[in-house]
Amino acid sequence: MEQLKNIIKNRAFELGFCEIGFARYEKLEKEIQNYIQWLKNGYSATMTYLEKNIDKREDVKLIIDDVRTIIVTAYPYYNKFKHSSNLFKISRYAWGEDYHKILADKLTKLVDFISDKINDFKYKIYVDTGPLLEKSWAVRAGIGWQGKNSMIISRTYGSYIFLGIILTNIEFEPDKPIKDYCGTCTKCIESCPTNAIVQPKVVDSRKCISFWTIEAKPEYEIPSSIDLNGWIFGCDICQEVCPWNNKVKITDDVAFFPRYNQTNLDKNFLENLTPEIFKERFKGSPIKRAKFEGLKRNFLHIIKNIEYEQINQ
Ligand code: SF4
Ligand code: SF4
Repeated sequence: MEQLKNIIKNRAFELGFCEIGFARYEKLEKEIQNYIQWLKNGYSATMTYLEKNIDKREDVKLIIDDVRTIIVTAYPYYNKFKHSSNLFKISRYAWGEDYHKILADKLTKLVDFISDKINDFKYKIYVDTGPLLEKSWAVRAGIGWQGKNSMIISRTYGSYIFLGIILTNIEFEPDKPIKDYCGTCTKCIESCPTNAIVQPKVVDSRKCISFWTIEAKPEYEIPSSIDLNGWIFGCDICQEVCPWNNKVKITDDVAFFPRYNQTNLDKNFLENLTPEIFKERFKGSPIKRAKFEGLKRNFLHIIKNIEYEQINQ
């Protein structure tokens, strides 16, 4: 099986994944307690979907009853491009194409490859879509450690990675978790402009710019106490300051290069944005998630932040 595992790993690297690890099926007893506490504290803000399927999150046997292994993959997206200004910044992960489909296609190729090698191979693929504690599985599979900014950090590719998961009925020798290399560093906690990292590895979404600009439905007004710091969609501050992201390998996958060569949106474009232009410009982009009304709300909030700063200078 060890040899087959290596063959599968090599195929994953050929497909562009930068990390792949295998975790043995177990109930996530400790992790689910932390997750439930996070929900109880109100840190999931208005994302009520996160309160569903707690039983499946704890026990993936409720998804595949004879599950034996959780295969975790990571795909890198850091590239050579930079933000062009401090205004209307797009989070790095959203510069290019929507990763969900790209990763699902690659994982499908990987499971097809495995299916050719193993009889009765049963599987289910997840890319950020199902009731899974992806980060917990990534840690268990040795993809990286969970940093104090709550992101999974690979030693080679930093935290600029997308996770993809395969649940399977086949038993593989598990990989070992790696050490937590945060050490005494607290840069992400100190640099978060809204103090959203309330303790190591714990983010209060109610204070997080990423939550407000991506996940909060357009009908929710962003609190006046939150300065978006120029982020129109997402926020990368707690990743940008992380020393582990200083020297990450870059990817040449053009799918994640900036669409329209834009890492920021243009003020003029945002002022004149219509639902029709939104639909056309963001088709196939992660930014679609914010919806037209949400992106407009984010834009108007940044304008308010700028006006406030000017008055108080
Ligand atoms: S994404 Fe931004 S606001 Fe959210 S925790 Fe990180 S630095 Fe703070
Ligand atoms: S900035 Fe420092 S504390 Fe935060 S995730 Fe990176 S290494 Fe860990």
